[in-house]
Amino acid sequence: MNNIVVQKYGGTSVGSVQLISKIAKSIVDIKNTGKKVIAVVSAMGKSTDELLDMAFSINKNPSSRELDMLLSTGEQVSISLLAMAIESLNEEAISLTGPQCGIMTDLHHKNARISEINTKRIIRELDDNKIVIVAGFQGLNDNHDIATLGRGGSDTTAVALAAALEAEYCEIYTDVDGVFSSDPRIVKNAKQIDEISYDEMLELAKLGAKVLHPRSVEMARNYNVPLYVRSSFNRDNPGTKITEVKIMENYKVRGVTIDNEIARLSVTGVPDRPGIAFRLFELLAEKNIPIDMILQNLNHNSVNDISFTVPIENLAESISIAAKFKDEINALSVEVKDNVSKLSLVGTGITSNPKIASKMFGTLYEMKINIEMITTSETKISCIIETPKTNEALNKLHDVFF
Ligand code: ADP
Ligand code: ASP
Ligand code: MG
Repeated sequence: MNNIVVQKYGGTSVGSVQLISKIAKSIVDIKNTGKKVIAVVSAMGKSTDELLDMAFSINKNPSSRELDMLLSTGEQVSISLLAMAIESLNEEAISLTGPQCGIMTDLHHKNARISEINTKRIIRELDDNKIVIVAGFQGLNDNHDIATLGRGGSDTTAVALAAALEAEYCEIYTDVDGVFSSDPRIVKNAKQIDEISYDEMLELAKLGAKVLHPRSVEMARNYNVPLYVRSSFNRDNPGTKITEVKIMENYKVRGVTIDNEIARLSVTGVPDRPGIAFRLFELLAEKNIPIDMILQNLNHNSVNDISFTVPIENLAESISIAAKFKDEINALSVEVKDNVSKLSLVGTGITSNPKIASKMFGTLYEMKINIEMITTSETKISCIIETPKTNEALNKLHDVFF
């Protein structure tokens, strides 16, 4: 055991200089128990959103490279302040940006993936008995440009460092007590989960439980990093442990999530012949647009409608691709619906119990909510519904299943 512990503090946790000073104290306390501590930090409070607002007020379509250059500064503010707060406690600390601590990424600005971590610098600083403070959500790409890892990506920085350094464990400190059966800010009866499997947590994160960045969970699972979600403000609560829980055949719903950040596109009047779907999704893949649900319905006179959902941030680009595709194959129209949300039930093996799906659909029917699309997998059932009713539906489904 190398005694390394990686902690990550989210935006709310470092939202003011007072909070930064408080966190500095708890980091020093951990170090005094004999651990080598790496603290990964997010930008203070809502400062990433504020930087984005400034960018878009200057240019409606800023380049991704310049956006990354701007957004990465948010984390630089908090790492330097935290290092200074630790120094004021007479403890040695050093702040490092992503590039300075050897985090290399691919070339996808705004949503870069970590390709490699050169840990030499970090190890040197830890061996010098310093607390290392790392800027979350950033790295350096092969063009020597700063790239960011996607919103919420500081979690992934923390887990990646924990994996690369074979840390004892990684703790994600946030503004709620742990992972809950639903978003505790929307569902008042949401229950804290003590222990959850990587696979279930990954599904919850992908389906909108933003308490963990999905890629951080994927990485923790792949590299066997013991991962905890804990509250920065309520240290007495042990939080949630993400681990390899073995579930026998006791399939049940572990969480209910919503994702409002999606839009639905439909191309109507698409000729029914081989290669058509391939062409549409090839064009979308060329631009690296993540597609989620896909539905193709056959109309009577050998034409189809193809519908799919995309993240709202990719909507503008997806519309122009769909329009190009429509013209290419002489389809009828492109229809867009952006007031939709994805409501999901998550739990290992839940589709093996048909009663769960029927209960979900029955609950939505009783609420007079129309289901526009459905997808299922081993660990989830997702429905697309109109946004205005999602919070109500989330609460109702939570009541029914918990
Ligand atoms: P941080 O800034 O610390 O990274 P985030 O805002 O990214 O924090 O994530 C924490 C938030 O995730 C909580 O405030 C909560 O509203 C939201 N959340 C959504 N679903 C869940 C869930 N199932 N369990 C816990 N938190 C959730
Ligand atoms: N500051 C970035 C964001 O707000 C990264 C993070 O907090 O994880 O998305
Ligand atoms: Mg987060």
